[in-house]
Amino acid sequence: MESIPFDKRTGEIWFNGKAINWPDVKIHILSHGLHYASCVFEGERVYDGEIFKLEEHTKRLFYSASRLGFKIPYNQEDINIACKKIVDLQKVKNGYVRPVVWRGSEMMAISAQRAKIHVAIATWEWGSYFDPNLKLKGIRLNISKWRRPAPNTIPWDTKASGLYMICTLSKHEAEKEGFTDSLMLDYQDNIAEATGANIFFKDDKGQLHTPIPDSFLDGITRRSIIEIAKSKNIKIFERKIKPEELSKFKGCFLTGTAAEVTPVSQINKYKFVVCDVIEDLSESYQSLVRKK
Ligand code: PMP
Repeated sequence: MESIPFDKRTGEIWFNGKAINWPDVKIHILSHGLHYASCVFEGERVYDGEIFKLEEHTKRLFYSASRLGFKIPYNQEDINIACKKIVDLQKVKNGYVRPVVWRGSEMMAISAQRAKIHVAIATWEWGSYFDPNLKLKGIRLNISKWRRPAPNTIPWDTKASGLYMICTLSKHEAEKEGFTDSLMLDYQDNIAEATGANIFFKDDKGQLHTPIPDSFLDGITRRSIIEIAKSKNIKIFERKIKPEELSKFKGCFLTGTAAEVTPVSQINKYKFVVCDVIEDLSESYQSLVRKK
């Protein structure tokens, strides 16, 4: 099913302090955010009308912005209120929220000291990130030829748009080869993450292993899953993991706000089973996000 193009949708978008008619929210073509990746954003989910971990997402938005040298002309509380307001206005019950912050068009060169900082928040009803059938059976990943950049090459611990150039390249390449997503290695060839989600493995003892997020995003969902696993007395190791270890793992899954808990059935030639431990973590995550 073709979805409605995002510029053709109806309702309102919160834009620089006001709710504006959706199709009228426009930016100038000479925006610094567009040309020079002066842009950070968030991805939040709405469950039963409530934004899950809204404050944590807003905090990360402000952190990402500060890492790019932006001074957001609102405080975190203003943005929390704005996110809730637009979700109410759009009557989103189970969906997604996308706050985005970028430099405007006052200056059009590498230097952008006087460019205005803009903020917009859009929200829409939304279901599964991956095809729901695939989400049950497990998705297949290839291994990207692109690496997560070294920490001294980019503000790696942010949700900055520039970091997603290689994610789109990787995902397109994976889709062309018949995979759903791509596993990215880091600059030292350790397993890092998928293009928009963190990764976990299960070994033959039922223990979990996940890479240390020292050159990629430490996802909010990743942290929730670690907490849930610990509460169930599942041993979890945050450590460097090499691709040579893939043959030893029995299970694998991705975590992310959009991906939630998504089992992985295959990475290149290595196969994994969607086991009880993964299904149980997924169910516990679903109860957590819907808890009032
Ligand atoms: N890594 C990347 C590159 C992502 O885009 C995301 C989604 N925000 C994640 C990991 C997972 O982060 P979170 O659980 O906070 O959504």
